[in-house]
Amino acid sequence: MGVYCQMLEDAAIMKNLTGLKKVLIITCPGCACESLSYDKQLPNRSLAEGKGFENIAIAVHRERDRIAQICAAAGIETDTITVAFPCELVETECERIVLAAENTDAVCVLACSGGFLGIRDIMPDYPGKIIPLMKSAGTFVFHLAIDPAGSYSLVKRQGARILHFAPAAAED
Ligand code: SF4
Repeated sequence: MGVYCQMLEDAAIMKNLTGLKKVLIITCPGCACESLSYDKQLPNRSLAEGKGFENIAIAVHRERDRIAQICAAAGIETDTITVAFPCELVETECERIVLAAENTDAVCVLACSGGFLGIRDIMPDYPGKIIPLMKSAGTFVFHLAIDPAGSYSLVKRQGARILHFAPAAAED
């Protein structure tokens, strides 16, 4: 069972980035990839062998590139890194992230809410903004199809089981 996460609205994302010059987009190739393959019917993962987990996630990288294009159109430069499992970071990954974020105005996290918190927690001294691009919306059990050429998987809508989180109770 994975974490079903959905993109925030482009307008809300760009509102957070208004006036910034350079941002780092951190991409999780885990459940975020299946979630986007399901939501947007994008190819999920490449089935090519020997590429490594970070490099086979197609859907989430296409969405990252789409956001980067919107940023470019708004005059915002983007750097990108892909981090396997921001929800359970190892020390070497933490150092890589902090280094990659140097000289940026914001870090954008393309992962579920747990991934966002995982990144935020290791950057207490980061002077810029740390911005989520997705939100956790539930959990999933998906079924995958393979494209006719056998080059990638695709999350099928048929048979998908998504357990949506209950909406947060209104505060007084
Ligand atoms: S950070 Fe979230 S989306 Fe990425 S692998 Fe962990 S639970 Fe899944």
